[in-house]
Amino acid sequence: MTGHVHAGHGAGAEGGHPRPGPLPGGAGDGRRLVDGFGRVHTDLRVSVTDRCTLRCTYCMPAEVVFRDREELLTYEEIARVAAVAAGLGVRSIRLTGGEPLVRRDLAALVRQLVAVPGIEEVALTTNGLDLAAHAAGLRAAGLSRLNVSLDTLREDVFETIARRRGLDRVLAGLAAAKRAGFAAIRINAVSIRGLTEDEIVPLARFCRREGFELRFIEFMPLDADGAWNPERVLSGAEVRAILERDAGPLTAERSADPGQPARDYRWPDGTRVGFIDPVTQPFCDRCDRLRLTADGQFRNCLFSTTEWDVRGVLRGGGTDDEIAALLRSCVAAKAAAHGIGTPAFARPARAMYEIGG
Ligand code: SAM
Ligand code: SF4
Repeated sequence: MTGHVHAGHGAGAEGGHPRPGPLPGGAGDGRRLVDGFGRVHTDLRVSVTDRCTLRCTYCMPAEVVFRDREELLTYEEIARVAAVAAGLGVRSIRLTGGEPLVRRDLAALVRQLVAVPGIEEVALTTNGLDLAAHAAGLRAAGLSRLNVSLDTLREDVFETIARRRGLDRVLAGLAAAKRAGFAAIRINAVSIRGLTEDEIVPLARFCRREGFELRFIEFMPLDADGAWNPERVLSGAEVRAILERDAGPLTAERSADPGQPARDYRWPDGTRVGFIDPVTQPFCDRCDRLRLTADGQFRNCLFSTTEWDVRGVLRGGGTDDEIAALLRSCVAAKAAAHGIGTPAFARPARAMYEIGG
């Protein structure tokens, strides 16, 4: 495995919120994935590939060398890990990447995961380019939720951000997803100062008209080019102010799900908009997520600097108990917070497309 030593990244207080010290006993009761701070992990983000049909500047480099296909976990390997994780209390799985729809017959994986006892929800995050061809098949396979990433409704801005064209295909994918009967389709939009300010209002109007749930996400230091800096973070609060100037006051909603990172707001007409503010309003204290990279490494955080090599266990003839032990080690080593903005913060070696957003 890559290592068990947790390199740490800002485990202290952050954003003015005091954090509890580690609980004695580390990973909790053994049947659930509880970390040293009492956080119970029920959500597994599974990246199925590092490949992608776009090259978004906040995620990938312009020129990229992808991993060999043999390095990627097979669907059977992913389903086995999911079954072990479900035995430890994981209830929801989100497929991501890279672009998950570049993997052949992703619906087959969805069917396998939906059939895992204990898994209650299988969701997908996609750039939407190939969604038109796959939406109905994914729905029939049992996919419960769909997030489509879209930062702009202008083709020139799309191309500036994604280094490829494709807006028409995303819009066609969204229409197909609606026709396929997906409820509560979400649009994720990354906010970057100097780049996306003018996209905010048109996107919000479009989503309200079409019935999509829009969520703005702050730019995180996970771009491959290392261009992130704090000045480029357009905060959720700033985006909210832009939206309120256009369409009136927003009222905060009380969240029903404590693990939910987004803060949702409503306009007077009842339509909603959400904000995921990992930089200015970190939600580490209620994080319930674990990650599995496409090449079979467990991570306990997007900003983890340590990984746990489950592919080695899977391909070395390891038992389910060994997979469970590895997952527990990964959870036990989770830091209190990502620590962005603190002196101890270290960028992970891998960029977003290699981790899985
Ligand atoms: N390719 C798919 C897509 O774009 O939806 C799935 C993978 S992508 C890495 C998942 C999400 O991460 C997308 O919504 C994308 O906008 C977001 N993302 C990528 N890089 C980011 C960054 N540096 N900061 C914030 N969000 C980022
Ligand atoms: Fe591809 Fe998604 Fe990264 Fe854009 S954000 S390059 S679509 S993986």
